[in-house]
Amino acid sequence: MDLMEYQAKELFAKHGVPVTLGKVVDTPDAARAAAEEIGGVVVVKAQVKAGGRGKAGGVKLAKTPDEAFSYASDILKLTIKDLPVRKLLIVPAATIEDEYYFSFLLDRSNRQYLTIASVAGGMEIEEVAHTNPDAVKQIGIDPGAGVDEAKAREIVEATGFPAEVAEQAVDFVQKLWTVFVEEDATLVEVNPLAKLSDGRLEALDGKVTLDDNAVEVRHPEDEQYVDTDSTDPLEAKAKEKGLNYVKLDGQVGIIGNGAGLVMSTLDVVAYAGEAHGNVKPANFLDIGGGANAQVMADGLDVILNDDQVKSVFVNVFGGITACDEVAKGIVGALGILGDEASKPLVVRLDGNNVDLGRQILRDANHPLVTIVETMDGGADKAAELANA
Ligand code: GDP
Ligand code: MN
Repeated sequence: MDLMEYQAKELFAKHGVPVTLGKVVDTPDAARAAAEEIGGVVVVKAQVKAGGRGKAGGVKLAKTPDEAFSYASDILKLTIKDLPVRKLLIVPAATIEDEYYFSFLLDRSNRQYLTIASVAGGMEIEEVAHTNPDAVKQIGIDPGAGVDEAKAREIVEATGFPAEVAEQAVDFVQKLWTVFVEEDATLVEVNPLAKLSDGRLEALDGKVTLDDNAVEVRHPEDEQYVDTDSTDPLEAKAKEKGLNYVKLDGQVGIIGNGAGLVMSTLDVVAYAGEAHGNVKPANFLDIGGGANAQVMADGLDVILNDDQVKSVFVNVFGGITACDEVAKGIVGALGILGDEASKPLVVRLDGNNVDLGRQILRDANHPLVTIVETMDGGADKAAELANA
């Protein structure tokens, strides 16, 4: 989960990373009031989960409250990288003498953490890496050892922070590391980390990605950051029902048990779709091991409410949950949904108790259900129905 700048800064402040919190507003009037309260020159900053806000016109220095009002109304009309601006951060303007870049991230391929840092901050780091690759330093971090003072010093030296900010930088690096570890982040990025005219270092921007797997148990307080405005409503509904669902762009709804089987089902459906008007999978949905009638009904309910879905492919391999239970689940689900179930269902069952499972479906004789023998055959039939 990505955080907005003001949320990232709140976490920074909690761990002693130098920041100015400012005020979050969502109207031009509130921006003017915030500017009045803060006094002096303020920065009006779009709060969207994207970088490059400055370039897109989403960061403006306002000398007066009236200017803050007018910039706020402009910025609230912007869409930055497809994200509409709904909130603004109003902060006192800092006087910048120098801009640096600093980040910690999870380096999955090398199974460690990584610092990427540069004394050429301010602009987007990809651009620095392109025009002046030597200016971007990468320093690996042993996950067992972490970042102590000695490691922080090594990072500061390797990055080439100027002597007059080096001690502050060592302190900053350790504190930002605390944010990274204690908040279970997979990314913390500060650009710019600014040297101000009074010589202090301050994080003027912040980007944080939290590890979603840590939220439920380790950081229930982070639920507040879940941005329901930008969550797909079907995904939200699926989450509420505890389903493992990801919305995709196609027309063939997919239900299966086990992540591996569902992934391969997406592949076969995408392949089969090439012969049927290029239809594609509409979602990933893994109902897991305990596929009872209610779970099946919940899954079908989510998928059938996707307007893009034209057909559904249920692909289940009976294991601990035998095929007859799954079949009862499907029949039960169709009963629960009644008239809401209005799209054709292709069902492939295999594995434990397959004969009994198929028999149950045949006996139910539901007009929307087509029973198929194989996964490829099912994918083909579902794609054909979606294209009909
Ligand atoms: P980004 O474009 O999304 O990365 O947004 P930033 O928060 O990094 O702001 C973009 C640029 O605006 C920064 O690189 C700074 O040069 C400038 N900026 C941001 N805050 C201040 C401030 O308080 N004072 C001044 N003078 N410039 C600022
Ligand atoms: Mn920035």
